[in-house]
Amino acid sequence: MYGAIAGDIVGSIYEWNNIKTKQFPLFKKSCFPTDDSFMTVAVASACIYWKDHHRMETLERDAQDFKDALISEMHRIGNRYPDKGYGGRFHKWLLRRSRQPYHSCGNGSAMRVSPCAFAADSLWEAELMARFSAEVTHDHPEGVKGAQATAAAIYLARTGKTRSEIRDYIRLHYYPLEKKLSEIRPVYRFDETCQGTVPEAIEAFLESSSFEDAIRNAISLGGDSDTLAAITGGIAEAYYGIPKEIKDYVKAFLRRDMDANELRIIRTFRNLYAHAFHVLYDDVVKFRFGGYKEEGPAVGPVRRKAHRKALAEKMARQEEARKAEEQHIREEWQTEQAMLDRVPAIVLLQELRLATERGEMTHE
Ligand SMILES: [Mg+2]
Repeated sequence: MYGAIAGDIVGSIYEWNNIKTKQFPLFKKSCFPTDDSFMTVAVASACIYWKDHHRMETLERDAQDFKDALISEMHRIGNRYPDKGYGGRFHKWLLRRSRQPYHSCGNGSAMRVSPCAFAADSLWEAELMARFSAEVTHDHPEGVKGAQATAAAIYLARTGKTRSEIRDYIRLHYYPLEKKLSEIRPVYRFDETCQGTVPEAIEAFLESSSFEDAIRNAISLGGDSDTLAAITGGIAEAYYGIPKEIKDYVKAFLRRDMDANELRIIRTFRNLYAHAFHVLYDDVVKFRFGGYKEEGPAVGPVRRKAHRKALAEKMARQEEARKAEEQHIREEWQTEQAMLDRVPAIVLLQELRLATERGEMTHE
């Protein structure tokens, strides 16, 4: 979920000042977490509740509980942070504290969905939770589809699937993904629907070479920059992990702009679904960087030899970088774990649940 938040923060200053280039400073002081981040926290909070409660036998009733928890959380967080760039209809929905969906096909359902894919134990569950999380407001078929496609891409990415496998799955079940970024970029305009955002965001990830590159791809398309980058960022996090310096920036922005209660939800979520991140760190990182293969261009034997040599050097460099990165991630992971160990997760969980049951979360 830091991936989605990172994308949102980077994109926050480009939503109304589009830039069609990948050359820009990633973070500026004027960046800030917008509605995408805050609603992601609301979904994370509801996911904590869902995973603690649900049993297969009572899926239907639990789904309603999940939706109720999510609606309450969106009302609470949305009204506590009112000026974060919510869409017009969503803003009205918040102010009226409505509990009815309004048939939206906006990209809001996809921008907030990432915690579902990290909390889920299967692709099926990820898509199911994505559907529930969308339906409380975005019950238009395209609104649900956008959330499900995003969650599916994240789940597949975090469980070690390759980019071409992810592309195939999305093509088969969701969007045709016919256009390359270079074809989308010149003609792409602001479009706040799911069908006008999610395929572009997924393509931005599929054509990327790193977490940062994915975010830059998304911003370079223009349009609804923060939301595009939030969707791309969620998938890229699951696939590449997030470099430490970017994560540090994200944490700093969150500490500046979010209160303790919301920060605690993020911490609890990351603690409870540590296994999802753990899989990511231990297996996927190795998988991504360990099994490196590159096909050289069709060239003559001499150049092929030179190419092989260059490739071997490149692989050695990558291996070194991979080891360093792995070490880095492991150290950071341990520090974070040590910190989290001091906060008994089960107590936090209990508090969150009781507060959600009362229909409001107490604010520290
Ligand atoms: Mg936004």
